[in-house]
Amino acid sequence: MTPPGEVARVLERARQAQAEWAQKPLRERCALLRRLREVMFARRQEIAEVITREAGKPRVESLLSEVMLILDTADYYARKAPKMLRPERVPHHSLAVKAKSAWLQYEPWGVLGVISPWNYPISIPIGVLIPAIVAGNAVVLKPSELTAWCGALVGELFEQAGLPAGVLQIIQGKGDVGAALIEGGPDKVIFTGSVATGRRVAEACARKLIPCVLELGGKDAMIVLADADLEIASSAAVWGSFTNCGQACLSVERLYVEQSVAEKFTQICVAKTRKLKVGRGLDGDTEIGPMIRAGQVTRVEEQLRDAVARGARVRTGGARRTELGDCFFEPTVVTGVDHSMLLMQEETFGPVMAICPVVDAAEAVRLANDSAFGLGATVWTRSARRGREIAGQLKVGTVMVNDVASYFAICEAPHGGRGASGWGRTHSKHGLLELVQVKYVDVDRLPRVPKSWWYGYSEELGVAADRFLEMLFAPTFRERLGSARGALKTLFRGHRI
Ligand code: NDP
Repeated sequence: MTPPGEVARVLERARQAQAEWAQKPLRERCALLRRLREVMFARRQEIAEVITREAGKPRVESLLSEVMLILDTADYYARKAPKMLRPERVPHHSLAVKAKSAWLQYEPWGVLGVISPWNYPISIPIGVLIPAIVAGNAVVLKPSELTAWCGALVGELFEQAGLPAGVLQIIQGKGDVGAALIEGGPDKVIFTGSVATGRRVAEACARKLIPCVLELGGKDAMIVLADADLEIASSAAVWGSFTNCGQACLSVERLYVEQSVAEKFTQICVAKTRKLKVGRGLDGDTEIGPMIRAGQVTRVEEQLRDAVARGARVRTGGARRTELGDCFFEPTVVTGVDHSMLLMQEETFGPVMAICPVVDAAEAVRLANDSAFGLGATVWTRSARRGREIAGQLKVGTVMVNDVASYFAICEAPHGGRGASGWGRTHSKHGLLELVQVKYVDVDRLPRVPKSWWYGYSEELGVAADRFLEMLFAPTFRERLGSARGALKTLFRGHRI
């Protein structure tokens, strides 16, 4: 545990380490990523085991949704960061500034505070650390107290890859340690977690004028049109609702299914759900592991009670599996739901699939957008055109047509939401650009020519300025040309203070 009083010293050490790290050539920082990938690959089984032991998810999920993602992320940024971070020439569109050569420079923020949750305890923090560190930042990471072991492992992996001491430091503890991190004044905060904590983080950052990225909760809708392949869509719905025992920010939380196929689709989902094996994550055939803690189970039960009291029907599941332990809950399918229920308003973060029939796609879109959240959504149809059309109407950060959640593992896909799902992006080039400051630099090609607006104002200069505007913006070419001579003559004749 890191005493909150220690955090200032940790940040100071990070500042010193960052100054040296940022001086290293980018190719050296990319080489670190390649070594990191080798270390993570060699230790992949151990990483998966630590995740499964600590967070409970089935081992297959630890390998695919965590280890694979970080291997690919290291590979991606090792290859792409040099191009993404290279200074970028700025071709000016306006005649007024043609005499300038300019470029954008990408510079590290300095020290970043990264605060991460327990549900993807390796892939979420490492998915931010890799671009942050390759861009020349130092990072202080505060993992969730519930997955402190994974947090320590993150530090160990970077250390083994040869990251200089102090560039990445892990501070362990509860929320007060996260709060102390923000209070200590990092240059930017990247927070992933719940809406309630996200709001506290945003307030704390605002008080210190520290920018932050907020990756918060979701209530992702899945829209199934009547022409969808129901076999495929139902398998996706079952996996999307129950992967990581439903404890995923992007997932399937609400289903809107066209009326004509809704009952058939529901029956297939119920049949597939009943076949899922609930058990301990380390058992090879387990498909649904435990939830992270009993309090999380209670929250799911409360939402289900509320839904049933308002007329919903549990079609399968709905109960704890106490013979396995306090945190095991049956994967559950619920129908007869509407938007008056907590189940359709709040993030559930548990293994519950709620299915709502809709008259048509327009109603599905209306209901999908009727949410405070805006993280992701999926659309199922055989028509790619309709899929894209509906995607354009959904108020979320990401839409997948005929797939679910897998974009999180696609390095080129930016991840982030709207509304209560937060702001800013992680992953992809957009995620990398959150971790650098953009600096515009220009060099005047006519350094000996004084600018006419550097005082010496007069009636004559006013007229010339107006001609200059005409030259640039008058509707026709002939008018522009007509104004050009007079404007240029006065403006460039060399006014000085
Ligand atoms: P929490 O918000 O409870 O915690 C997130 C992190 O913040 C933890 O490390 C926590 O520490 C820390 N923390 C708690 N209080 C403070 C504080 N006052 N100041 C700074 N840090 C603090 O989220 P969970 O860990 O429960 O994660 C689940 C949530 O995360 C869900 O809502 C889920 O949707 C969301 N999430 C969003 C993702 C996205 O990309 N949009 C991805 C994954 C999850 P501690 O745990 O030690 O209390």
